[in-house]
Amino acid sequence: MKKFANYIDGKLVPSKSKDYLDNYNPATGEVYSLLPDSCQDDVEEAVAAAKGAFPKWSGLSPEDRSQYLIKIAEAVEQCQPELALAETTDTGKPLWLSNAMDIPRAAANFRFFGHAITQFASESHLVDGVALNYTRRGPLGVVGCISPWNLPLYLFTWKVAPALAAGNTVVAKPSELTPHTAFLLSEICIKAGLPPGVLNIVHGTGGKVGQSIVQHGEVKAVSFTGGTATGRKVALTAAETFKRTSLELGGKNPTIIFEDCDFDLAVESAVRSSFTNQGEICLCGSRIYVEEGIYEQFLSEFVKQVRALKVGDPLDGDVKVGALVSQQHQQKVLQYLELAKQEGGHILCGGGSEVVAGRCERGYFVQPTVIAGLPNSCRTNQEEIFGPVVTVQSFKGADEAVSLGNESSYGLSANIWTSDLKKAHNVSHKLHFGIVWVNTWLLRDLRTPFGGMKNSGLGREGGFESLRFFTEAQNICIKL
Ligand code: NAD
Repeated sequence: MKKFANYIDGKLVPSKSKDYLDNYNPATGEVYSLLPDSCQDDVEEAVAAAKGAFPKWSGLSPEDRSQYLIKIAEAVEQCQPELALAETTDTGKPLWLSNAMDIPRAAANFRFFGHAITQFASESHLVDGVALNYTRRGPLGVVGCISPWNLPLYLFTWKVAPALAAGNTVVAKPSELTPHTAFLLSEICIKAGLPPGVLNIVHGTGGKVGQSIVQHGEVKAVSFTGGTATGRKVALTAAETFKRTSLELGGKNPTIIFEDCDFDLAVESAVRSSFTNQGEICLCGSRIYVEEGIYEQFLSEFVKQVRALKVGDPLDGDVKVGALVSQQHQQKVLQYLELAKQEGGHILCGGGSEVVAGRCERGYFVQPTVIAGLPNSCRTNQEEIFGPVVTVQSFKGADEAVSLGNESSYGLSANIWTSDLKKAHNVSHKLHFGIVWVNTWLLRDLRTPFGGMKNSGLGREGGFESLRFFTEAQNICIKL
């Protein structure tokens, strides 16, 4: 069976613990590879390697660092078929989606930050005739990057690329549920000639590897994406060493559909925003609010389209909904479906697990599920389910839409459908969400600030925001 290795100081090495964890293919329920069950000693070695590599790497010109990143971007593109298959095997997501979204975006992250660092600039403040202040932004040193399982290489590289571009050296940990593409990335970095120690990838559990990275005194910042409860732990641990953190956490995102929307487009997009990647995208809408005049019409067309989504083998090109990432996660989602029934919800379609005949008969599939008739305050509408489950409610007028949308402890993203420009602006400004999409969903521009309000996180990533996070500002004041 294939064994993945850590990538430390430019070499592929086993964990010092010599232990391995099983890695499952969630579409078949089989263990198909093993990953190092790394320990604190592995993190120590990775941090030492990163510390050793820092002076040279941070001393390179932005153009030289950029060249490395662009080279890695090109290699990711060349390895797309292998990377996409690895991503699908680890996550259960349709192969066409890994090919269309995950891997191109991973390459784009390296290319984007490779270019961005050559354009990065800082401020200067002139006190006329008295002094000139200028802000120097230098790299922090060794930084930690910790990512989740839902968009494995996409989110891993979203952190690693800006950290490296800014001149830091990195100790990174992918999710233990989806280590495969990060392992392939380490092979790519070796082939691309990235100097040893600049990027180190340590595999293993959050409790051991993640915790060791966050508490390490030499690690100056941690960029973390994952669940809100884990984010809280990361913040508490990081506070001990006054570590800078960027926290991208959970969500419970509203999709608000007004009567004056482009109806067909809104329905089609609501299907996509609810069920893409099995609903396992932090930006998926999981609470749909429809203005009362079109509520019944929406419900009937929406449910019809959801019923038509094919659930099945991720390697089948017609499949729209693949397997959930793990049996544990499948059970969590199924428990929420039971809860929704207990809370009085009407299941309009789906409502349980799906058995897929053939090689996937032991896979962790859940039917795309639409639930109506639940109050906004119930747990089903307030807690993050992170699966192919969506609730639908009606509203009367923009004020009620805003108040229902904002009634949440989360604040990651919101989606509005209307043809009234003034309403689009007004409603967007009143919604407490870090990202608002109007008449579109998941349209990403990597230059824009990305992140959540309330329990969805702290800080912003993207464009210069990421480069600012991974650098320390120093003001230099010169008397004129
Ligand atoms: P998770 O919090 O369980 O794990 C995320 C990462 O943190 C993993 O690598 C894990 O091993 C590690 N980890 C666990 N405990 C740790 C600890 N004590 N210290 C340090 N690291 C630790 O999240 P998940 O289940 O992998 O991912 C799903 C969650 O991620 C959902 O809540 C989803 O909304 C969120 N998410 C958010 C965004 C965003 O941009 N806001 C994007 C994707 C996913």
